[in-house]
Amino acid sequence: MVPQGGNTGLVAGAVPIAGPEQLILCLNRMNRVREIDPVANTIVAEAGLTLVELQNAAAGAGRFFPVSLGAEGSARIGGLISTNAGGMQVLSYGSMRAQVLGLEVVLADGRIWDGLTALPKDNTGYDLKQFFIGAEGTLGIITAACLKLYPAIAARASALAGVPTPEAALRLFQAARAAAGSGLTLCEYMEADALALGAAHVPGGALPFASPGYLLLELSTPDSAHTPDSTLEAVLASALEQGIATDAVIAQSERERLHFIAWREAISEGERAEGGAVKHDISVPLGRIPEMVAAVHRLVAQKYPDCRPNIFGHVGDGNLHINIRPPKGQSMAALAPRKAAITEGVEALAVSLGGSFSAEHGIGQFRLTGMAAHKSPVALELMRAIKHALDPANRLNPGKTIPHA
Ligand code: ZN
Repeated sequence: MVPQGGNTGLVAGAVPIAGPEQLILCLNRMNRVREIDPVANTIVAEAGLTLVELQNAAAGAGRFFPVSLGAEGSARIGGLISTNAGGMQVLSYGSMRAQVLGLEVVLADGRIWDGLTALPKDNTGYDLKQFFIGAEGTLGIITAACLKLYPAIAARASALAGVPTPEAALRLFQAARAAAGSGLTLCEYMEADALALGAAHVPGGALPFASPGYLLLELSTPDSAHTPDSTLEAVLASALEQGIATDAVIAQSERERLHFIAWREAISEGERAEGGAVKHDISVPLGRIPEMVAAVHRLVAQKYPDCRPNIFGHVGDGNLHINIRPPKGQSMAALAPRKAAITEGVEALAVSLGGSFSAEHGIGQFRLTGMAAHKSPVALELMRAIKHALDPANRLNPGKTIPHA
């Protein structure tokens, strides 16, 4: 039984494996908002609701739901929770896991666990919902969730800054965070090639200036009396003075702000349109981002000099997408013989710096090799024990998440 929502995952977690017959379980018609509680600031949504529909339901109640990602028009709540999806606003609000207060889950033996509590405090033994969040449907089928809502955003200020190095990007991030605290709600790093690829696939508007790297910053607040514009201006002015930013433009309109975000979001689409890439989703301790970026460039220059690194991501979370594009003018077929070695190399680099080989995309089928190589034997044993306790006959999403012993 393979639960499948919007089928927008990036590690084939919702795709049946080769072998015995499998049933794809589609929950798309379970798409109701059951309840919005404006006092507790919670929403109970069914698994088949799309992320955009959830965001709109929250907005309709004068609230804000913060998880946001490129596939939000098709990605569905059940899948977003089952993969613990991240995206661009994890920095301030946390990933999908941080939004979940309660779950309703169908177990492998057909029983329903009604854990749809909205209580922010409930310290009564094991926190069972955590077993199902990020479990990729291997322990139970999530049918509904009680999620947190936040005050509506009243004002935003966004800027695109040019940064000479990843070190400078990190310093600018720190400066913005020091000034705005949790009001810094978006901070995306993009190497020049990555942003150019995104911008080339968004109609209208060229990049405002050239730079080896860019930082997209957004400050936001629910407080309409104190807009974040002056904070952002002060951060950028100081960064320009210190040379950690070489150029910067502040979005002068909502249209311009959305344009910056569209460039960032179009990077993956640009990759797809121009030959594809071997994709990675790593995280490292924040201070080691510059080392990671330098190490990837060294690896590619030494072993795959014809390939093109495409590096971008959620720098404030220590999470970078390190995608390796095939030689110019060639497709992924040209990279096929080297794909496994490239992935092994990039994942090993991240782990050697104290990082993770899968920061926000999960394991599914594509990261099982990394799991076997890098996850500790004790952790794998615990995971197998939990899987066996909840699904002894291996009915739920077989062949995903946990590598064969
Ligand atoms: Zn991402």
